Amino acid sequence: MAKFKAIVAEKADKVQTVSLTEFDEANLMDGDVTVRVGWSTINYKDGLAITGKAPVVRRFPMIPGVDFAGEVEMSTHPDWKPGDQVILNGWGTGETHLGAYAEKARVKGQWLVRLPAKISPREAMAIGTAGYTAMLAVMALERHGLKPEHGPVVVTGAAGGVGSVAIALLAKLGFQVIASTGRREEEGYLKGLGASEVVDRAELSAPGKPLAKERWAGGIDSVGSTTLANLLSMTKYGGAVAACGLAGGMDLPGSVAPFILRGVSLLGIDSVMCPLALRNEAWRRLESGLDRSKLEQMVREIGLADVIGVAGTILEGRVRGRIVVKIS
Ligand code: NDP
Repeated sequence: MAKFKAIVAEKADKVQTVSLTEFDEANLMDGDVTVRVGWSTINYKDGLAITGKAPVVRRFPMIPGVDFAGEVEMSTHPDWKPGDQVILNGWGTGETHLGAYAEKARVKGQWLVRLPAKISPREAMAIGTAGYTAMLAVMALERHGLKPEHGPVVVTGAAGGVGSVAIALLAKLGFQVIASTGRREEEGYLKGLGASEVVDRAELSAPGKPLAKERWAGGIDSVGSTTLANLLSMTKYGGAVAACGLAGGMDLPGSVAPFILRGVSLLGIDSVMCPLALRNEAWRRLESGLDRSKLEQMVREIGLADVIGVAGTILEGRVRGRIVVKIS
């Protein structure tokens, strides 16, 4: 196949355009593994890349898409051979390296994770980078020593991708989960995933006190800004909050009081350059730690041709759970 279908972003006179087109295989970038992409997904960052609302794309032309699941077609990397099922999350794909919204991708073998036996390629992308990030956040809280008996865990941006998967993972581990959402109509959905309490995100988004009443032992935050500052101020003595997102803003207008008076920890979560050992562990944990029936409740499937139209809706906070993209 010399040409294949791809979504391509281009820039001329500072204006970005994105279209579904034919892409010549000869123009793929260097890499030692060529993958036939089966599935991808739409993450928040993909929404930013396609709409051009933030400078996610660092090279033009670019095929956006930060993650995929697929089958190895050709490889000169010692770990991979044709027919292997693989997952890729991050490493700059869709940003500096041609990405996932295409029938083919050429990448570095060291970026790939083997698809766990009990996860289908579609499920891998239903989980996607959002779900794998949620697992990284859960693992960070566990490394901190957080246990269900220490108290509830709050999840912000609860009806979004990271939030939905985080709730399902935490509930299965036995944590009491408090879901914070701006969409009260999703209370039934969030409780179905395992939340025991749903709070309005407005409760956490207004500037608060440096130290407030202790409400939870831990948190997973997709929102950032004042919400994250409030989460910290309401965390119990010795607790921890894993920060993964910026849906509400990139700033952090808080105080050091929770750190120095309550020994609270702020744990940073990065999925893009995360070391391979941690990625493999996260995907292994997702294989058994996420109920497939709950995953199905979160997922909507679209085709490659729908991606451009749908991408902007994730930035408006209108996507519930996860979107999986059937590529080929
Ligand atoms: P989603 O859009 O699916 O979820 C974000 C959720 O945040 C929304 O569903 C909404 O939840 C809430 N939200 C949206 N806008 C606002 C706002 N202005 N104020 C408060 N809450 C808001 O995105 P993802 O779950 O894919 O990603 C979540 C965040 O995590 C993003 O910022 C993304 O960039 C980041 N991320 C970071 C990664 C990393 O490596 N650190 C990897 C993956 C994602 P509700 O309606 O329930 O309130």
